[in-house]
Amino acid sequence: MILEKYSMGIGDRFGCQGAAQLQAFVKAAEKGIEVTPVWNKSEREHGIIHTVPASVRQEADAAVRQVGWKKAYHVDADHIHGKIVDKYLEAADFFTIDVAEFIGGAVDEAEVTAFVARRRGSLKALMAEGVDGLALPTDAQMMAMMRKYLPAVKEAGRTYRRIVAAKGADGFVAEVSMDETDIPQTPLELFLILAAVADEGIRAQTIAPKFSGRFNKGVDYVGDVAAFRREFEADVLAIRAAVREFGLPANLKLSVHSGSDKYSIYKPIAEVVRKHGVGLHLKTAGTTWLEELAGLAAAGGEGLALAREVYANALGRFDELCKPYATVIDIKTANLPSSAKVNGWTSKDFTAALRHDAACPSYNPDMRQMLHVGYKVAAEMGERYLALLRQNSSVVGEMVGANVSRHLMAVFGV
Ligand SMILES: [Zn+2]
Repeated sequence: MILEKYSMGIGDRFGCQGAAQLQAFVKAAEKGIEVTPVWNKSEREHGIIHTVPASVRQEADAAVRQVGWKKAYHVDADHIHGKIVDKYLEAADFFTIDVAEFIGGAVDEAEVTAFVARRRGSLKALMAEGVDGLALPTDAQMMAMMRKYLPAVKEAGRTYRRIVAAKGADGFVAEVSMDETDIPQTPLELFLILAAVADEGIRAQTIAPKFSGRFNKGVDYVGDVAAFRREFEADVLAIRAAVREFGLPANLKLSVHSGSDKYSIYKPIAEVVRKHGVGLHLKTAGTTWLEELAGLAAAGGEGLALAREVYANALGRFDELCKPYATVIDIKTANLPSSAKVNGWTSKDFTAALRHDAACPSYNPDMRQMLHVGYKVAAEMGERYLALLRQNSSVVGEMVGANVSRHLMAVFGV
């Protein structure tokens, strides 16, 4: 199974917006922008919403039938690892093998030594790419890097081989992700990690490193955009060198786990991707839920009442809801309005604060991040929430589709 050049991960926590999301890909394709949709859902989301991996497969298949999509699409077992992979084997055909937890784990010193001896000569291929400011590491530096990353790649190999045993090597798309960690990987580290990926026999088609800067949920990138561009381009060159040097799949590409809405870096990403003619996987996730909430608020009546209730409840459970997402949110609580104030808001007030429009003075990124992680509140409402989504499916679907389109156009439409 070969992943197409451009692909975008879309999340749909409540499983109601598959067709609305897919319509955005249809519209892009009508403009000549061919992007493959990949529905992704993590174990944590399944746990909170009480869904199973098969739910995502059903949703994707139903959306494809409803919309009449004739091209490729995938279902991503998002951030799985060895302990949970088994239950995703049937439903998924894209596996994001997350081994961040194994970085710096127990390692066999003899294997590290052997790796450095075997791969030192390969660094020439990376140097030949002319990556800005790249210096050759000493053996000791290479050893230190591989002590850190070899345990993670070896774990990825174990999980990968389990998937191969169940689905066959050609039966799925493999991604290796190391993004959910504190310290970004340098382009040199990425190159060496890919050498280890090749050693493990992993036919990875996408790799998700941790980039510099903050990728907070549902809001824009926080960091030095020019530095990000240099890092992103160096990673592209490191991958190109690794593909040639280690015989990895020719379509191996970067996967950016964006946390959605990283508009300020979409342009540099698009420029670098075009400049080098490489592919890209952009993963977005929870903003579909925020568009649902905005759609309900916009609908007024019961919808607006529910949106206010979600806000009040989430504010009251701030610590509980934010804790699992602490590394990917940055909320200034002083900027969160009181629930009494929000209870007085009109539809327009609510949507203006929630929706990501940087030019709008009422836009409140702190509130947006809190509500992003507040989907648990709606999950607990269960059928009441889902019934309102169905009743307001046209306004909600329009907002969901517009949000997916905005991402597609910003990254792939230039
Ligand atoms: Zn991720």
